[in-house]
Amino acid sequence: MSDSSTPVKNDFIRDIIAADLASGKHATTITRFPPEPNGYLHIGHAKSICLNFGIALENAATGARCHLRFDDTNPEKEETEYVESIKRDVSWLGFDWGEHLDFASDYFEFFHDCAVHLIKNGLAYVDRQSPEEMKRNRGDVNTPGTPSPDRDLSVDENLDLFAKMRAGEFLEGECVLRAKIDLASPNMNLRDPALYRIMHAPHHNTGDAWCIYPMYDFAHPLEDALEHITHSLCTLEFENHRPLYEWVVEHCPVPSRPRQIEFARLNLTYTVMSKRKLLELVRGGHVAGWDDPRLPTISGLRRRGCPPAAIRAFCTRVGITKFNGTTDVALLEYEVRDHLNRHAPRRMAVLDPVKVVLENWSAEPLTTAEIPNHPQNPELGTRQVPISSEVWIERDDFMIDAPKKYFRLKPGGCVRLRGGHIIRHLSHTTDPQGNVTEIRAEILPGTVGADAPEGVKCRAAIHWVDAATGTDATVRLYDRLFTREDPDAAEGGFLNALNLDSLKTVAAKTEPALAGCPPGFSCQFERIGYFIADETDHTPGTAPVFNRTVALKDTWQKSAK
Ligand code: ATP
Ligand code: MG
Repeated sequence: MSDSSTPVKNDFIRDIIAADLASGKHATTITRFPPEPNGYLHIGHAKSICLNFGIALENAATGARCHLRFDDTNPEKEETEYVESIKRDVSWLGFDWGEHLDFASDYFEFFHDCAVHLIKNGLAYVDRQSPEEMKRNRGDVNTPGTPSPDRDLSVDENLDLFAKMRAGEFLEGECVLRAKIDLASPNMNLRDPALYRIMHAPHHNTGDAWCIYPMYDFAHPLEDALEHITHSLCTLEFENHRPLYEWVVEHCPVPSRPRQIEFARLNLTYTVMSKRKLLELVRGGHVAGWDDPRLPTISGLRRRGCPPAAIRAFCTRVGITKFNGTTDVALLEYEVRDHLNRHAPRRMAVLDPVKVVLENWSAEPLTTAEIPNHPQNPELGTRQVPISSEVWIERDDFMIDAPKKYFRLKPGGCVRLRGGHIIRHLSHTTDPQGNVTEIRAEILPGTVGADAPEGVKCRAAIHWVDAATGTDATVRLYDRLFTREDPDAAEGGFLNALNLDSLKTVAAKTEPALAGCPPGFSCQFERIGYFIADETDHTPGTAPVFNRTVALKDTWQKSAK
């Protein structure tokens, strides 16, 4: 798959891979995307997905591939619901793992064998200190660690204890298996890190087969090596875990030697990204679920109407570097707008309707001229829109005390109904508060698809919906979920930065062509923004529901000032 508008940029990781292929170090490259199934994927994961699967696609000629591997080594937080959502999201983003759908839990026996191998080589021991003692005895940057009384148990004693751990003879926290590396290392990760812990918890894949589970730092390099991953790409937090990654690969009986390379994670303004915080938003009822269109989850972005190609283009534009930073969410919105502007068909909807009665309508044809569905793309075709004696227009497209430069409808003035007639204002009524309740106007005959007649000033075209054939629709106007760029820095935590106006629901009128559109149909509401028929709540014909993807222009910057 290619996104012609945003060609792939080279980066230091792609350079390393190209060099490894050129030098013959590797005949091909094998990457992996390794989510832990403990939540839904977010746009940060999309960066990693685009990188890993992107590299495989770019090197397809050498037989390159990318595995989707579930890092399901922690039974307490993981659920199959998450596995299914992650598969769906990766596919939706446009990537294909082919036959390479892997589960770390399928390798439990192998991890165990590696642990036994380390014990036999005097490189791992069962430590029965309490977690507090273990923590205390690790020392700190200035103080080397203190050896556990168990550090010099014999190989046989360790094999026996580890077998008992596996057999369920210990309680959680009673002991762990630790690597025997270097208690004085300046890198804390090398101070005899834990390799296995006891968890009396059933696993979604292996059930009750295990009550010991490998730690991430032990399991991950083994998973990579077992799958012959050549380049194991991860985020910068893992940079000082790399020596441990290499130690595991070096000392275990593995079939290949993967290389870990770190890159900067994606952070976005006006949002929070960690799964723990997203879970808090979902569980706390601050949003309507993992796929709430205000969330940066892939499923939320899909439901919001962000096309996968726009997300891929965004990831390409952000690029891969070694420097942590925060990307302006406006860049994502730009890519979404740019894609939809080129591809989305145009339709008409009125979000704040006021009625216009056309007094002489019967003198004219009952449909508009052919309205193009896209201004530049004739392939999207044209449509005719029915019109009758009453139409809805946008409340702010009529102004009683209009300034000179106001070219939409005003007392005595003319305006064109887009694709249709020019109409002239005759009169209007207001309620006691001064709000317009109805406008009466006349059609200028012969103006469908034709210029304004001599002496008529008409300088604007407004969108409209025929009252007889238009449909009532629910339209959800989404705004940013947080009021500040850096919600994590809000006093008292990110929940204090929630934007309480992030969802407005309006009762709108839509043209008849929209009534029957299927869920997931995405279009521009002319002059307003891009919208998508909601994938869950939209019922074609009877109860249309549209979500705003983005407004036509970035109005946030203005209103924020
Ligand atoms: P989070 O920190 O948001 O909870 P995680 O890192 O725990 O996410 P994993 O399921 O472990 O989530 O991540 C799968 C892959 O996605 C990892 O390789 C991880 O490095 C990558 N990843 C996660 N978040 C980001 C991000 N913000 N930017 C780039 N890559 C990311
Ligand atoms: Mg994680």
